[in-house]
Amino acid sequence: MPEGHSVHRIARQFGRHFVGERISASSPQGRFADGASLIDGRTMTDAKAVGKQMFLEFDDAVWLRVHLGIYGAWDFNGAVASATARPAANDPSDSASESIAAEPGMPAGRMGQTGMRGASVDDDAAAPTTVVGANEESLASIGAPRRTRLRMAEQESESAFDDAALEGFPPEPIGAVRVRLLSDRAVADLRGPTACEVLDVAGVQQVIDKLGPDPLIDDAEAGEERMLERIRRRRVPIGLLLMDQSVVSGIGNVYRAEILFRARLDPHALGASLPEDVIRGLWRDWRYLLGVGVDTGQMLTMDGLDEEARRLALRNRADRHWVYKREGLPCRVCGTHIVMELAAARKLYYCPSCQV
Ligand SMILES: [Zn+2]
Repeated sequence: MPEGHSVHRIARQFGRHFVGERISASSPQGRFADGASLIDGRTMTDAKAVGKQMFLEFDDAVWLRVHLGIYGAWDFNGAVASATARPAANDPSDSASESIAAEPGMPAGRMGQTGMRGASVDDDAAAPTTVVGANEESLASIGAPRRTRLRMAEQESESAFDDAALEGFPPEPIGAVRVRLLSDRAVADLRGPTACEVLDVAGVQQVIDKLGPDPLIDDAEAGEERMLERIRRRRVPIGLLLMDQSVVSGIGNVYRAEILFRARLDPHALGASLPEDVIRGLWRDWRYLLGVGVDTGQMLTMDGLDEEARRLALRNRADRHWVYKREGLPCRVCGTHIVMELAAARKLYYCPSCQV
């Protein structure tokens, strides 16, 4: 499941390439025909993310709310250039959900999972077909001429989607596209979302009110107070509270594990047992990591890396995290084997020595 940084990056794609444009909306799959008709012909006026949810605003305060969930994905294509990021064969990465290949130019590529429906209950398990984000170096190479396809990993793909991307603009929708948003210059296809609905302002507010603070939306201090308030009375393990979107927005399984390690915090410690400054520290660290994630497109959670280590970390998940997906491997700090256990049916990774 895309974590907060991905959804912010998707919203940013919409902000760059769709806001201000008149949008043709359709539901090639048919399931969202009524919703699409409410949007069709309107101009997109705003795009924002709160946690894992995205809100696109159109004329007359008509909003589209999208939650990708585990299987949802956006495919972007532009009339100018089309870029598709593909996973390197040996690097099924956690940031699967992320490919913002065309950022400096036109939007292209896929953001979100790629539809391994039913394949796994672990939404962080990178499905073999998921798309790996390009690293920062690659981004600079984008900006290709019209209808040039850029490929950002070694693996060529045979998918119809890619072939279509070369054919012309807009490409034919492939597969079960719930909604297609099309401007003169760019197209975004949504597949497999958990939620996709048209809302009015009050409806949007109702959803947002239920969400915990998002460091990129909420004022830093007010957000910190809200998160503190929502954690310190709860007799629930902090490992679960961080994943609770009503406590704090945008943290998924990867960031949960990494933030707890960075704080050297036992995931089983109850929210109510934590000193106030520890909780404040969690908010501040999330705020920091989310910023890095939005900037790099990767859930880069290790600090102080030299140039080479940073390059590796951006390329491979194995070099990127403290504990996530490292069960059985020695802790990078103390050498103890990292533990994985199930917590509320989700895999929780931690170092039993450092995090006590
Ligand atoms: Zn350790």
